[in-house]
Amino acid sequence: MSRFWSPGISELTPYVPGEQPKLAQLVKLNTNENPYPPSPAVLQAIQRELGDDGQALRLYPDPTSQALREVIAAREGLDLGQVFVGNGSDEVLGIAFRALLQHERPLRFPDISYSFYPVYCRLFGIRYQAVPLADDFKLRVDDYGADGGPVIVANPNAPTGRALSRAEIETLLVRCRDVVVVIDEAYVDFGAQSAAPLIARHDNLLVVRTLSKSHALAGLRVGYALGQAPLIEALTRVMDSFNSYPIDRLAGAAAAAALADEAWLARTRQAVIDSRETLVGQLQALGFEVLPSQANFVFARHPAHAGAALAAALRAEGIIVRHFAAPRIADWLRITVGTPQQCEALVTALRGIAGSLNAP
Ligand SMILES: *Cc1c(COP(=O)(O)O)cnc(C)c1O
Repeated sequence: MSRFWSPGISELTPYVPGEQPKLAQLVKLNTNENPYPPSPAVLQAIQRELGDDGQALRLYPDPTSQALREVIAAREGLDLGQVFVGNGSDEVLGIAFRALLQHERPLRFPDISYSFYPVYCRLFGIRYQAVPLADDFKLRVDDYGADGGPVIVANPNAPTGRALSRAEIETLLVRCRDVVVVIDEAYVDFGAQSAAPLIARHDNLLVVRTLSKSHALAGLRVGYALGQAPLIEALTRVMDSFNSYPIDRLAGAAAAAALADEAWLARTRQAVIDSRETLVGQLQALGFEVLPSQANFVFARHPAHAGAALAAALRAEGIIVRHFAAPRIADWLRITVGTPQQCEALVTALRGIAGSLNAP
């Protein structure tokens, strides 16, 4: 706090990302990163862009990131004007909050969802209404009435991992046809249905994606949004009033190469899904309740152990998972699906932490 701060800065409550520990030997299952290295095509693309002497870096990148947007548009069967890119989907989301979600009626999102949403609301002065999920953490589309404000939903949801079907999303889009509905698809590649095919029929739909999770590029910072041209134009107007070059040359080339390598995606996504199914079975055998997950993480609790205590005990064993000290989910752990070896280390540690884990 300082007298030099602009008004309101001391009232902000910034998002707290999961820990990025300095200790390399930790088993890191706390921020839903991909456990596999990115496509080799990514490294080649960065090398090619860099050239022998790095000359390319002397020049600003294409402010419209057209080459990358063309790759995305072709992949989705959309026009160039229906694709927006940004420096990670967090930035794309922030731009969308300012461009599309700041209206008279409060923004609606589930009470348990990505904890960045209320942070953007406070930054931009957007009123919001948390809509409670059902007891089993399912989202009931009927809870979103026609007369409310815009809607943002993560699908699959974070941190629960539960997903809505495309048909349920279409019902939501029809019910809320007079407001924008943002679907945050950060985890969609791990088994959920994308809403992108609904874009042609629904002018109120914005789909947001990231290369951080399914393409193993959290360190590269590239995300994108898909929607009908008027929604994309609003995002572009805000972005160009803030940062004209969100995608640097290396990131643009790397992201295009990553998206083009469909075989890499199919292989690694299947490996993560297989590990997830094995992990779910092993956690259940230890007495955990595990929500059905369509993501690269599982959300689990043990009836005999508090979430915070379990997370601390795991950390002492060199394994970090994510625990949220928040209402309704304080006893749950969000555990990223790692390699088979990392998952095995987690299960072994849990077995050791309490012989009583088997109890109920
Ligand atoms: C990880 C995540 C993001 C942010 O991804 P970046 O592209 O790395 O900024 C957005 N939404 C949800 C729900 C996420 O879990």
